[in-house]
Amino acid sequence: MDVAAVLADSRLYSLLQRFDEDLAAEQRAGGCPRCGAALHWACYPRKPRAVPREVIAQYGRRLSLCCARRDCRKRATPASVRFLGPKVYLGAVVVLIAALRCGPTPARMRTLEQRFGVSRRTIVRWRVWWTEALIDTPFWRARAGALIPPVQPRALPATLLERFAGSARDRLLGLLRWISPLTTGSAAVHAT
Ligand SMILES: [Zn+2]
Repeated sequence: MDVAAVLADSRLYSLLQRFDEDLAAEQRAGGCPRCGAALHWACYPRKPRAVPREVIAQYGRRLSLCCARRDCRKRATPASVRFLGPKVYLGAVVVLIAALRCGPTPARMRTLEQRFGVSRRTIVRWRVWWTEALIDTPFWRARAGALIPPVQPRALPATLLERFAGSARDRLLGLLRWISPLTTGSAAVHAT
């Protein structure tokens, strides 16, 4: 898979943006999860790294909502296919670069590191997140059982990426959607 090409394609970013807007619209239509009142926008500022210039304005916001009732103010953060927890890199980068770690050539890895400014240490941390922190979440325990044959955790996220069909971009989008429930407030995974 040509990771640099997938990540350089601006259509990826507009698709991810559209998915996030749909997820947020759905959440908003459902009203406040506590009292049922209307939800208002209350987005978080984000400064994700390695984002193409054309989409930087949109990607500077993590879509989020807040109950309009003054005595409730419950926060409701929809799932996201763009932001994977509080990491400074987009989910797409965290998936693809960590997946390559399972079998890249050192030269290729260096090119990616230079291009996306991801340090070796960060990549090692992502791998720990995928292979240890993620598989320990209730989300993973509940959902991974449905994957047949079982996904080999040691080679995550490459082994999960393989389960989705289509082009490299389609598989990436499939994985990000599948994992997106992890990005909501109630299931947030705190790893950097
Ligand atoms: Zn409320």
